[in-house]
Amino acid sequence: MPEETQGDVETFAFQAEIAQLMSLIINTFYSNKEIFLRELISNSSDALDKIRYESLTNPSKLESGKDLFIKIVPNKSEGTLTIIDTGIGMTKADLVNNLGTIAKSGTKAFMEALQAGADISMIGQFGVGFYSAYLVADKVTVVSKHNDDEQYIWESSAGGSFTIRPDHGEPLGRGTKIVLHIKEDQTEFLEEHKVKEVVKKHSQFIGYPIKMVVEKEREKELSEDEAEEEKKEGEEEDKEKPKIEDVGEDEDEDKKKEDKKKKKTIKEKYTEDEELNKTKPIWTRNPDDISQEEYGEFYKSLTNDWEDHLAVKHFSVEGQLEFRALLFVPRRVPFDLFENKKRKNNIKLYVRRVFIMDNCEELIPEYLNFIKGVVDSEDLPLNISREMLQQNKILKVIRKNLVKKCLELFEELSEDKDGYKKFYEQFSKNLKLGIHEDSQNRSKLADLLRYHTSASGDEACSLKDYVSRMKENQKSIYFITGESKDQVANSAFVERVKKRGFEVVYMTEPIDEYVVQQMKEYDGKALVSVTKEGLELPEDEEEKKKREEDKAKFEGLCKVMKSILDNKVEKVVVSNRLVESPCCIVTSQYGWTANMERIMKAQALRDTSTMGYMAAKKHLEINPDHPIVENLRQKAEADKNDKAVKDLVILLFETALLSSGFTLEEPQVHASRIYRMIKLGLGIDEEEAMLTEEAPAADAPVEGGDAEDASRMEEVD
Ligand code: ADP
Ligand code: MG
Repeated sequence: MPEETQGDVETFAFQAEIAQLMSLIINTFYSNKEIFLRELISNSSDALDKIRYESLTNPSKLESGKDLFIKIVPNKSEGTLTIIDTGIGMTKADLVNNLGTIAKSGTKAFMEALQAGADISMIGQFGVGFYSAYLVADKVTVVSKHNDDEQYIWESSAGGSFTIRPDHGEPLGRGTKIVLHIKEDQTEFLEEHKVKEVVKKHSQFIGYPIKMVVEKEREKELSEDEAEEEKKEGEEEDKEKPKIEDVGEDEDEDKKKEDKKKKKTIKEKYTEDEELNKTKPIWTRNPDDISQEEYGEFYKSLTNDWEDHLAVKHFSVEGQLEFRALLFVPRRVPFDLFENKKRKNNIKLYVRRVFIMDNCEELIPEYLNFIKGVVDSEDLPLNISREMLQQNKILKVIRKNLVKKCLELFEELSEDKDGYKKFYEQFSKNLKLGIHEDSQNRSKLADLLRYHTSASGDEACSLKDYVSRMKENQKSIYFITGESKDQVANSAFVERVKKRGFEVVYMTEPIDEYVVQQMKEYDGKALVSVTKEGLELPEDEEEKKKREEDKAKFEGLCKVMKSILDNKVEKVVVSNRLVESPCCIVTSQYGWTANMERIMKAQALRDTSTMGYMAAKKHLEINPDHPIVENLRQKAEADKNDKAVKDLVILLFETALLSSGFTLEEPQVHASRIYRMIKLGLGIDEEEAMLTEEAPAADAPVEGGDAEDASRMEEVD
């Protein structure tokens, strides 16, 4: 809604953050102002893409203008620089919404990025490039004509508001004309050579002709009569008329006479359109002739990125089907990679050099959505629409090839350790998503993973490295999932595995849980979680014998413990994985791990009903070599109803929960037990303790504790 209406001029307030951004752009000292032109040209190019795309299914949309181009008009006498395009144009509503009233997530994100030291030239990536016009202009006038509406004028000199009015002036046909009223100290942008330089630098790869209206002078020959007339007119009228110069003076008399008529010439000023971006589409050229700088420039113009790409793959496929492609890996994850569903400018589809569409989703699987580039097909029909793409066989083949080439590219990247580290920091999530989604390429993707392990030191290593270090009798790859490297490295689960000389892979990202759900093996070796039940380590006869003996010896204790803990655990068994710790909690083969339970609890919006049946099924494992366990065994054997045993078993269980990565449902009950132990340790009299505030909970009889614990169980199961 307009703030104010006067005649047919409506005044609107900018959305608050946009107003803030504009004053930031105007007031920040910043010297690299030329990027405004790149942003406006990029918007024009987008608008041309849109009308081209619409015309594929509805050719009549081009009736308002068939020529698709961008035109730049510097005008020194008016102090304006005008950028015209024959793109899709904006309706009145578009002008109001897109240029000022609709909030965009990028506005705030960009201002925050600036505060954190980002550069104004990054503006395009945040989706607010239009406002960079105010780097060089104090007033901007946008005239626009969309097929579905009349011609309107948007205008603003910043200051928090803009106006909209119908335009009865010269009709555009279709498209947008942006008039920049150039600031007094920025008049260099009215110079032809400057405009040329900036376009060449930032916009040479735009896929539509960028024409500039240039002023030229030429000599014009006049017949004597015309010359006479010119002379008179020149005298009578203004002095801006072309001057006549007699250039024949010094010549031989005869010839002079003869040629007199022809030799009268004038210098005449005229304007001409000069195309500024005549370069052939870069992907059609031979890769050997293209420098890294050229790839970098192309990448930047394609993506609005301010930095060069990290890696590039340029290839063509011939045979049954023919296409060329140019794929880039950026240096960073864009600020909204996993946030914004409708990302554009990922893979642009061309058919025989003609742009068809942005962000062709059918060309690349979701997990590779960070790849940018161009595909140019020889085989697709020019009038292909998005609907047709979905079942298109050609497209499926192209997609397969693109994935293959991407994986090749990643593999090449992995040969350079430091370079790969940078890549992996940014995109490991995508590779892992790929393992989850792309069963065909799972093993290739698995080769690209890097993990810290108990033997890898400071550097992460590949699973291939792990396999090369496997012991002779080792059949499986051992891994643990958890919150951090420190936490998993010190966890009770890995004690014995490590002590026996087996390496353990540390998986510390939430997405790793999903990876191991799909990746059951690597190179023929099963992936085995050290936190799940049934962990079997290779053992010799002696070890086997000892385990049998332990099992028999502790059978009684296991039974007592199970009856105390009741349905808090599925079972209590003698462990073969512990060294220093008295016990640990493992989970069943098919339920969640402690880590997964933690992740799922953290996802506030998920359906709570799955929590019930997926929640980790817990098995308590006890360490037969641990003095606490041995002592308990003796106590339990002497009297299986010993109250102290009961209390200690629960305490042990709760502590094991914590150290195994679970959270306690009622931490205060656990705390009370610990306080009681501390009092015991300090020799504080129970009677005396009763008088303190903590007393009721601390001294609650074990039976009471059980009741509380029982209610807690309902949530765990
Ligand atoms: P972005 O280009 O990332 O969307 P901008 O701030 O550069 O962000 O532009 C904002 C919006 O204004 C565009 O998305 C588009 O809808 C509209 N727009 C800008 N310039 C033009 C143009 N020349 N023709 C048509 N629409 C335009
Ligand atoms: Mg833009």
